[in-house]
Amino acid sequence: MQVRRFPCDPGPAAWNAILPSEPVRETLKSTLNADWLVIGAGFTGLSAARRLSELHPNDRVVVLDASRVAEGPAGRNSGFMIDVPHDLTSSDYSGNTESNLREIRLNRAGIDYAKDASDAYAMSYEAFRLSGKINGAITPRGVDHNTGYAAHLDKLSEPYQRLDAAAMKSITGSDSYIDGLYSPGTAMIQPALFIRSLASGIETSRVKIYENTPVIELKREGSVWKANTPEGSVSTPKVILAVNGHLESFGFYRRSLMHIFTYGSMTHPLSKAELALLGGRSEWALTPADPLGTTVRRISGTGGDRLIIRNRATFDPSLKVSDSRIERVSRDHDRSFKDRFPMLASVEMQYRWGGRLCLSRNNVSVFGEVESGLHVACCQNGLGTSKGMVSGKLVAEDASEISSDLLNDQKTDVQPTKLPPFPFAAIGASAILRWGEFTAGKEL
Ligand SMILES: Cc1cc2nc3c(=O)[nH]c(=O)nc-3n(C[C@H](O)[C@H](O)[C@H](O)COP(=O)(O)OP(=O)(O)OC[C@H]3O[C@@H](n4cnc5c(N)ncnc54)[C@H](O)[C@@H]3O)c2cc1C
Repeated sequence: MQVRRFPCDPGPAAWNAILPSEPVRETLKSTLNADWLVIGAGFTGLSAARRLSELHPNDRVVVLDASRVAEGPAGRNSGFMIDVPHDLTSSDYSGNTESNLREIRLNRAGIDYAKDASDAYAMSYEAFRLSGKINGAITPRGVDHNTGYAAHLDKLSEPYQRLDAAAMKSITGSDSYIDGLYSPGTAMIQPALFIRSLASGIETSRVKIYENTPVIELKREGSVWKANTPEGSVSTPKVILAVNGHLESFGFYRRSLMHIFTYGSMTHPLSKAELALLGGRSEWALTPADPLGTTVRRISGTGGDRLIIRNRATFDPSLKVSDSRIERVSRDHDRSFKDRFPMLASVEMQYRWGGRLCLSRNNVSVFGEVESGLHVACCQNGLGTSKGMVSGKLVAEDASEISSDLLNDQKTDVQPTKLPPFPFAAIGASAILRWGEFTAGKEL
């Protein structure tokens, strides 16, 4: 199969840009044989490569990425490794109880595997920490969302704590939040630092990562798969495809995957005077009570003290967005920022960016052996940090014929529901997103 489209990552990967630069890894320029080929060096691909190296320490594992480690969505996300249900296609993040319990088991296994990597590779507190997160509400409607979500957590016997406006102000410094729902199981990561540390941690003489090496063709030749790249190739009996929505670019699951872009802005490092005006804690992390609202993080560490916001979601089946889109979204970001932090009216954003999510209409992932020797773990439904860590580990186990209850949980997913034909899918999805953002009101 010829690969039809390649990753396009608009704007800088801010989390990566604020770290000291790293030497570029080699681009593949030769013909290689390997025991395993992993395509994609995000959470899923690197987790799969790590598990393969644990299961088969003498095997040669090659990882190819079209871009650089931490420049793709893995270095562009908000860094919430969430354990509790987080269904972005629902109005309140939750689905039915049975599937939520399964989702929690899987997400927690992903977080455990991330923690295991964090311990093994001596990652800093900044890269990975188990700190929990808060669903912040600004409007009475947002409070209703938190109340509904709390009732759902009660049904699941999951712990949480409600926070009033005073508690929210003491954490965030903002007068805007009138309610919060703290859930303790989320790990917060500096996504680029985590993914860089994971990549360098797994590299050995048997595991090699090539950057700036897109797979342009993947074909079966007898009993092996051959992946062609612009200047080289890898022949291997077993391939793991960990490219999230770009699975469709390899010819699989056409018209079943929803390609969504969402957008982030990061301030310049706040000065001492700005920090004094802001108040609150030096680190905190809020997801919006309304799934289509604004995510906010305050960070302190490498690159200084900063605020980061994320909002807006656009349906882009072409897997590309224009620079003018980033400019338009920036206006919404500035408004959301100023509403929450009027005391920082003069603070400018240093970085603006966008990045891809892959969702399915029925909130299922794509997992398993799609052709002999070709295994996939894709469509992470907007929660690729935890889901990528677990599905990467499990796809390596599945391809190694190791069974477990957790693997059964992962394999329970049905197939993604087909999307309506173009242009109805685009019109319908865009209308739903716009309506959701409209009704989110001040939560956006
Ligand atoms: C602004 C923003 C905020 C987000 N916030 C969160 C959050 O807080 N928590 C969360 O869990 N998720 C979040 N996400 C989503 C999360 O980033 C993704 O779900 C996650 O990165 C998916 O992981 P992955 O490893 O499956 O895929 P990716 O991270 O997309 O990695 C796939 C890799 O495959 C490579 N690739 C694609 N095609 C080819 C090819 N032909 N050849 C070689 N390589 C190829 C790409 O370059 C890419 O590096 C956010 C996303 C964005 C954009």
